[in-house]
Amino acid sequence: MGNILVYVLHYEGAFNKNSLGAVSEGAKLAGELGVECDAVVVGGADLTNDLCATLGSYGAKKVYKAEGAEGLAQPVIDVMAKVIDDNGHSYALFGGGLLGFEIGAGLAARKQAGVTMEVTGVNVEGGKLVAERPILGDSQISVSKYRGDLGIIIGRINAFEVKETGGGAAEVVDVAVEYSPWSNQATMVQRGEQRGADVNIEDADILVAGGRGLGKAEGFQLCEDLAGAFGGAVAATRAVVDAGWYPYAAQIGQTGKTVAPKLYLAAGISGAIQHKVGMQASENIVAINKDANAPIFEFSDLGIVGDLNKILPKLTEAVKAKKGA
Ligand SMILES: Cc1cc2nc3c(=O)[nH]c(=O)nc-3n(C[C@H](O)[C@H](O)[C@H](O)COP(=O)(O)OP(=O)(O)OC[C@H]3O[C@@H](n4cnc5c(N)ncnc54)[C@H](O)[C@@H]3O)c2cc1C
Repeated sequence: MGNILVYVLHYEGAFNKNSLGAVSEGAKLAGELGVECDAVVVGGADLTNDLCATLGSYGAKKVYKAEGAEGLAQPVIDVMAKVIDDNGHSYALFGGGLLGFEIGAGLAARKQAGVTMEVTGVNVEGGKLVAERPILGDSQISVSKYRGDLGIIIGRINAFEVKETGGGAAEVVDVAVEYSPWSNQATMVQRGEQRGADVNIEDADILVAGGRGLGKAEGFQLCEDLAGAFGGAVAATRAVVDAGWYPYAAQIGQTGKTVAPKLYLAAGISGAIQHKVGMQASENIVAINKDANAPIFEFSDLGIVGDLNKILPKLTEAVKAKKGA
């Protein structure tokens, strides 16, 4: 059985949180399999050996470092294929996200390996890894086992928890790669972050959550204004995330995050059970809904029946006035 190789995305001197979660998960699984967890990173001059060695505190034993374009799939596929060919890794693990999907799919094609995407859990069975993936609108779990020499596992964003293992510095191994002719054809022109992706909603004391009642993506401005006045953050239901109105990072509920802020203000949210499980532990729940029979009122501390388009701006003004006073 070969080791587990985890792809770690790096940007401006810091590692991506999902990648660190994948390293933590890889280290845990490697321990159960009796093998090692290694990491692979691709980047430019800002990717120093000292930085790479810090992955040891998340459980990586060796870090394979290659010079190349960061944030693009094809160069990473070349690097991972070489590292796996040279060292015989049995599994490649990714934290998720669009880049992880693209690299994992490309690596699967290159190595003729099985790949599972949107994985929410990985277990060891009979000395091998088995990946769990929710299907049919997350109502069932499918299980993937791998044949052949390599299995590729791509997590759902935030599926793997970041855990520091207290391990020492990882050994850093420089990898010289001859890139495929097509791999350096693309260049990164600009990086952008999704709106709301920079806010850690799990740490916010006040969350203003928006649902389909906002009517359209632009409706979230009302939530952002109020959250800004409070000094809080914006959360969302799955319905609006699926509609592309707000990033998945803000989704609360069964298939999103679980939060317990001091105040959870739900605007235009019906209160479906799958949403409730992610926010019911909030200290105070305030709901604004135009339907007096909306289920959310059954578990709200304060319910406001009315049109959020009228109420939210007034509330924002009031909070600003109070804070300014
Ligand atoms: C397996 C599974 C997993 C799921 N996981 C999640 C999850 O993690 N998180 C999650 O949120 N959902 C999840 N869902 C979806 C969930 O069942 C609901 O569909 C979703 O939460 C509904 O989102 P919503 O409240 O924004 O929309 P809706 O249910 O459409 O509610 C919109 C509400 O807005 C109100 N409204 C409309 N206009 C206004 C207005 N002008 N002013 C005030 N109120 C207004 C309406 O009265 C209504 O109550 C899951 C579903 C399944 C099957």
